[in-house]
Amino acid sequence: MKKNKPETLCVHEGQIEDPLYNGAVSPLYMSTAYSYKKGDMYPRYFNTPNQVGLSKKISSLEKAEETLVFGSGMAAISTSLLSFLSSGDHVIFQPDLYGGTRNFATEHLNTYGIEHSFADSTDLNDFAAKIKDNTKVIYVETPSNPLMKIIDLKGISELAKDNKIITMIDNTFASPVNQNPISLGIDIVIHSATKYLGGHSDILAGSVSSSKKNMEAVFSVGKSLGGNLSDYTVWLLERSLKTLFVRVEKQNKNANELAHFLQNHVCINKVFYPGLDNSIFHNLAREQMNDFTGMLSFEINKNTSREVFESNLKLIQPAISLAGVESTINVPFLTSHKWLPKEEKRKQGITESLVRFSVGIEDVGDLKNDLNQALKKASDES
Ligand SMILES: *Cc1c(COP(=O)(O)O)cnc(C)c1O
Repeated sequence: MKKNKPETLCVHEGQIEDPLYNGAVSPLYMSTAYSYKKGDMYPRYFNTPNQVGLSKKISSLEKAEETLVFGSGMAAISTSLLSFLSSGDHVIFQPDLYGGTRNFATEHLNTYGIEHSFADSTDLNDFAAKIKDNTKVIYVETPSNPLMKIIDLKGISELAKDNKIITMIDNTFASPVNQNPISLGIDIVIHSATKYLGGHSDILAGSVSSSKKNMEAVFSVGKSLGGNLSDYTVWLLERSLKTLFVRVEKQNKNANELAHFLQNHVCINKVFYPGLDNSIFHNLAREQMNDFTGMLSFEINKNTSREVFESNLKLIQPAISLAGVESTINVPFLTSHKWLPKEEKRKQGITESLVRFSVGIEDVGDLKNDLNQALKKASDES
């Protein structure tokens, strides 16, 4: 049979049959105690029916052999890193990492005797220069937060393979709809499922996908660290994933239109979105992504007050998190990147006038109106 397309996989793959009542959706199995005569089913072993079903769905979307589902994105990230790094090893990150990952790298890895370096996200030569004899992992995030930088995944994977290094990507910002890193040679794909996979700002979860062999290592460490997701939330996440494709498709479309709208707005200095022709990442994004995502950032100009803009938005809400069906904004300088040293903020381009925009599924005209009226007030008053 021909392989089904992602839209279909989102709805059907991994569905658990209901032989008792023939219900249309997966039954929920909340048991933490199963008969030992049937094997060793136990939630912390990632092998209960709902976990296995959801894992199949995510594997099919990421073109992976296996997936494990975790209680948060950070549980997925920390478990993955500790599965392939031990005392005496070295890992290379890009500097513009998700805050929690950066914190794990700079505050915790050294306590396990694991060294790390940062390489310039947009320079493959710098990644090559940072490789040492004990380098075991290269870890990237693309598109990156919040400036939507794009990293050459084929380039990274070739560099790593030549040096027998495992590659990991945090694919949260792209979602499996927009980017499938395993097809580009990346070994391990991680998601904060709290974002696009969940998509409704009401689930905290994570996932790790890779080959059977790599997932044995993640399983072995994962069952000891115990960062599982409750089967109830697994069931909810399966439900959310059924609409992943239609949600993200609409978010992509809205973001693209709003990026062009903001780019031409008198109150905006610059828009960071790989879908714009004038983005330095446009061609690379076209090559390695299916679409440009629903995330973008923009810098408000000097004559417009960011605070007044923020407080006058009516539809678009201020929020720490992202990728829900509702449009939200965030000021990285004050929130996600608050703890970054001043010099590092400057180096990465995180200014006080930078706004990160997670575009939802609302009518794009309504979103434009909301941005427009808030920007107008912000420019009048300053
Ligand atoms: C939110 C996020 C994480 C962390 O996920 P949690 O589910 O909050 O633990 C990791 N990476 C990226 C890119 C994120 O946006």
